[in-house]
Amino acid sequence: MAERNSVTPEREAELLASVPTGLLIGGHWRQASDEGTFDVEDPATGKVLATLADATSEDALSALDAAHKVQPSWARTAPRERAEILNRAFGLVTERAEDFALLMTLEMGKPLAEARGEVAYGAEFLRWFSEEAVRDYGRYLTTPEGKNKILVQHKPVGPCLLITPWNFPLAMATRKVAPAVAAGCTIVLKPAKLTPLTSQFFAQVMMEAGLPAGVLNLVPSSSASSISGPLMKDARLRKVSFTGSTPVGKKLLADASQNVLRTSMELGGNAPFIVFEDADLDKAVQGAIAAKMRNMGEACTAANRFLVHESIAAEFTTKFAEAMAALKPGRGTEAGTTVGPLIDGGARKDVHALVEEAVASGATVVTGGVPIEGEGYFYQPTVLAGVANDAEILQTEIFGPVAPITTFSTEEQAITLANASEYGLASYIYTRDYARMFRVAEQIEFGMVGFNAGVISNAAAPFGGVKQSGLGREGGSEGIAEYTTTQYIGIADPHADQEGQKS
Ligand code: NAD
Repeated sequence: MAERNSVTPEREAELLASVPTGLLIGGHWRQASDEGTFDVEDPATGKVLATLADATSEDALSALDAAHKVQPSWARTAPRERAEILNRAFGLVTERAEDFALLMTLEMGKPLAEARGEVAYGAEFLRWFSEEAVRDYGRYLTTPEGKNKILVQHKPVGPCLLITPWNFPLAMATRKVAPAVAAGCTIVLKPAKLTPLTSQFFAQVMMEAGLPAGVLNLVPSSSASSISGPLMKDARLRKVSFTGSTPVGKKLLADASQNVLRTSMELGGNAPFIVFEDADLDKAVQGAIAAKMRNMGEACTAANRFLVHESIAAEFTTKFAEAMAALKPGRGTEAGTTVGPLIDGGARKDVHALVEEAVASGATVVTGGVPIEGEGYFYQPTVLAGVANDAEILQTEIFGPVAPITTFSTEEQAITLANASEYGLASYIYTRDYARMFRVAEQIEFGMVGFNAGVISNAAAPFGGVKQSGLGREGGSEGIAEYTTTQYIGIADPHADQEGQKS
């Protein structure tokens, strides 16, 4: 497969030249109202890849004008029509999988093989929600005392602001856009300023798939709050769906209270990865690499705290460290690369500060532990053993290729340690004992549990967290419900005694 990774500078330039650089408003690509622009960099080289229009508050409001204008007609389209647009978009993204993958590798840094995996995962939301669009069931029933009928139907929530993070440029966009389209909502999408090119390319595909003008509006911007601020104050906006950090999510929840907006919040995580004494150790190591190193550790689902039973900790640590040390950092477009750079210099500095603090409070570096010198923001895959339970690295999202290991002696202690976090997104349990799996899953305060599985994201599953990891679910049959409101119509039963039910 190595030759598939050989990307020439000409191929990169040709692809970048095909990415729209404007704002998409009301079906037209255009410049920012003040003609401002911002640059998008390659984190593996620090070089500028493209210069995009930089949306202003005024542009954001124009995008909402467009979304609001077409909302009524879009809500009335046949579900089958919306399904077919999504299905065509699935086909187009799949056809252009190599372009999407390379674009993500260029702007985000992940190795091409991983970027291809994200294209498959991200495209699947388009297919899944094309199937869900025609299966949004309401209900009809008789009231318990038999005098009325209850009719329940779902309606699109209305114009939505969708805000996405930089770490999964395609999947985070499709995971929101697809259910919104399926439900009949119009959209203002604001991608992360570090990786907006994939959304630019994706919006173009949605238009090609036949999405009517104004349904999807795209406002890349270097100033997120100058987009979200005015939109969230405008009563025409009905919903905000955000994926990103918990502090920004909290701020948006406060802003959303002004107009009592519907909200979906996919926020930060601090996943425990628990290895019990009866686990298959080789599978646990394989799962640990997947759960830690997917996206260089820059994932909300990334295993952040390795809790290993004391009787197997030494063996697990040795095998895991060997597997981490065998990974190959490099530019994602280069053959053989298995670990890309971190997103920027600030991210790398933060990761290293956590490692230094852990070591100062007693941890041992088993492998890695330092930034890699030279071009780009690379950090060595790192394993730390003997990490103190109160070390900062266990309290915060590492968002980098660093695995801190601590030990436990009883199942009860493992559960207590796992739950000792304000986050509750993904968790992982390795054991051969199914009874234990159910026991632990019952007691663990996380929205998602991987049982002997290091990667659990799937378009057909409800993705989301509890506690400060957020509100709502994306994917699964739950995903479309985030974009609908419920309307109840009470119908007098034509056969009932109307006099008897006046009260
Ligand atoms: P971030 O919170 O800095 O930014 C996310 C998005 O919000 C970006 O588009 C950004 O421009 C925008 N934003 C930033 N400040 C804003 C403000 N004041 N008002 C409005 N919008 C604002 O997060 P990030 O660094 O892009 O992404 C990493 C974070 O995202 C991590 O915490 C990670 O765990 C989380 N994440 C969560 C999930 C999930 O599904 N739960 C998935 C991926 C990432």
